[in-house]
Amino acid sequence: MKRWIRIFSISVFAIAAVSLVFIQFYQTRRTFSINDNMFNIGVGNAMDEAIKQLNGEVFSPTAPQTAAFNFQVLDTLITEQLLLNGIDIHPVVGLYNGAERSFLYSSDPRREQQLEESPYRYHFQPAGVAPQGQLFITLAFPGAELFLQRNSWVFVYVSFFLLLVIVLMFIIALHALAIQRKLDQMRTEFINNMTHEIKTPLATIGLACEMLRDETVSEDAATRQNFIGIINDENQRLRVLVETILQSAKMSNKNFRINPKEVDIHQLIAKVQQSFQLSLANRGGTIETHLDAVPSTLVADELHLTNLIYNLIDNGIKYSTSAPQITISTAVAEKQLILRVADCGIGISKEDQKHVFEKFYRVSTDNVHNVKGFGIGLSYVAQVVRLHRGHLSLESELGQGSTFTITLPLG
Ligand code: ADP
Repeated sequence: MKRWIRIFSISVFAIAAVSLVFIQFYQTRRTFSINDNMFNIGVGNAMDEAIKQLNGEVFSPTAPQTAAFNFQVLDTLITEQLLLNGIDIHPVVGLYNGAERSFLYSSDPRREQQLEESPYRYHFQPAGVAPQGQLFITLAFPGAELFLQRNSWVFVYVSFFLLLVIVLMFIIALHALAIQRKLDQMRTEFINNMTHEIKTPLATIGLACEMLRDETVSEDAATRQNFIGIINDENQRLRVLVETILQSAKMSNKNFRINPKEVDIHQLIAKVQQSFQLSLANRGGTIETHLDAVPSTLVADELHLTNLIYNLIDNGIKYSTSAPQITISTAVAEKQLILRVADCGIGISKEDQKHVFEKFYRVSTDNVHNVKGFGIGLSYVAQVVRLHRGHLSLESELGQGSTFTITLPLG
């Protein structure tokens, strides 16, 4: 997807999401206000009916005094009427004497202040009851807010939850898109690098063959051996390269099995070291060995272990700007064989150290190095170690060099 399309769709989505939040907010406020009105209408209707009944039934001519008033009836009648109007909360009821500014009755004396200030005040004057024109029924609804918002909140929560789900899905889709882009980029880089990596040894081999064909050159035994050595090295390089790519692809398969047998790690190191002799000599580099492991034999896959050592040494040489200095050491501790490959090369930053063992990961080439590669060497090394139930660690300091330590079980 093109960059501008991505930015455009993200912007449109962000605007739509924010607008939706505002609309939702406005709608919620509107719902609360409608609920408020409906509540007031409900209370009004209930009180109309209640007062009608109270006038007719409770204040009969035989009980004209407020003192004889049956307050219990007042309470239950109002609650009943409220219920009939869809309001299922118990109100605080008060009978207020306006002339004396006092309550003749209140169902909860602690809330008289609230009752006095309540907007729910209804004139109540049955015939024959003193004081004339000064009696009010007042109501207070301490739980009204909860009641009013009870139903609306469900919708608010559900719609905000759905909005969250949409945003989450959008983020996941963007993430998947980013991964897809990265994979595409990696694939292109991989093909470019592979072409380069294969072309270079092929060109070197071609050149060496040309030189060998030249009789004046090939006459000298030392020069001839030198060119044969170059061809051998480059051939070995190509072999490991192809092997690494193929084996790495094979290892991704869950059913992949290694082929373990007894191998002598010192012999493998010597064999690999041999194949680097010429390229090291060309760059004035050295390989120092401290092979102290006793025993040096272990049960492992010879092919993969050889490639592993090759990859580590090859990296040590590739990522050294000056003459490469590689140190290989082995030791045995706690029934584990320890193999260390150290170099004094460009080193790896702490941040990159977290990723170098990931497949296709390459340290950004712009500012650190311009060495070509596939980014699968170390991931292959990590896979081989894992298949041998070993352990792999890396210590590195930018500009100082890197040490790869591999521990493999002996038993
Ligand atoms: P490749 O060498 O083909 O790029 P690797 O998987 O072998 O792939 O290495 C991944 C990255 O780790 C390389 O791009 C390089 O930047 C870094 N790296 C590996 N080994 C070393 C080393 N010995 N010194 C410095 N950097 C290294």
